[in-house]
Amino acid sequence: MPELPEVEVSRMGVSVHLDGQVISDIVVRTPKLRWDIPTPQLQTLIGHQINRVSRRAKYLVIETAAGDIIIHLGMSGSLRVIDKNVELKKHDHVDIVVGAKVLRLNDPRRFGAVLFSESGVPHAVFSKLGPEPLTEAFDSQHLIAMCAKRKVVIKQVIMDNPVVVGVGNIYANEALFLTGIHPQTPANKVTKKQLKLLTTVIKDVLAAAIKQGGTTLKDFSQTDGKPGYFAQSLYVYGRGGKPCLKCDSTLQEVKIGQRASVYCPQCQKDS
Ligand SMILES: [Zn+2]
Repeated sequence: MPELPEVEVSRMGVSVHLDGQVISDIVVRTPKLRWDIPTPQLQTLIGHQINRVSRRAKYLVIETAAGDIIIHLGMSGSLRVIDKNVELKKHDHVDIVVGAKVLRLNDPRRFGAVLFSESGVPHAVFSKLGPEPLTEAFDSQHLIAMCAKRKVVIKQVIMDNPVVVGVGNIYANEALFLTGIHPQTPANKVTKKQLKLLTTVIKDVLAAAIKQGGTTLKDFSQTDGKPGYFAQSLYVYGRGGKPCLKCDSTLQEVKIGQRASVYCPQCQKDS
């Protein structure tokens, strides 16, 4: 599943090709992904210039003066900017045409979304989102306040969008490992010192992943291949049963809120 770093790298990859361009056509081949695609509204943007491509949480926002196109990659979505004559592949659902090029959304599992919002009117999908993890709005004071009265386990708190957006399962696992916090520690039992460190580590792991993904930017204009996903060096995610890379103990796996959580029983002790 694309997490925040992949979406940010997608944003960087496509914005190079889209910023300042005029939308010449919008083709919707599939009426519904996760939600109905508002084709008539989207098509009102034909003829308008793309001012910029921004990101909020895991949503990409293609901004014009007349309104925005909001794209979510869901479980399996990917974007490419290619020549508009490139033959369609299976699961190519939406094209946003700019001159001779096209931004093409492919999504085999169809959990992604393409939405429209009027200019200056925030879409309802943004209404309950907390701060962006890589901004100053997400700081240790905020996380300490969010954890103070919560008995739910810390892993679920940092994955809760109203607390902070875009910390998905991979980075929640990694950040807790790097901070030495057991993922099942109740949030109100995590010390302030640990939460301070956790805030910094969350920013660091996300920034490092974006930097690493930056090397794949050229893939966004290639016809083949899957852009936006990159090999990552991970300590715990997907490594249950394998040795800890720090202490050689066997990594344990538990389900927390239906999601696989891997931790080192030695490096991440219950507090
Ligand atoms: Zn360990």
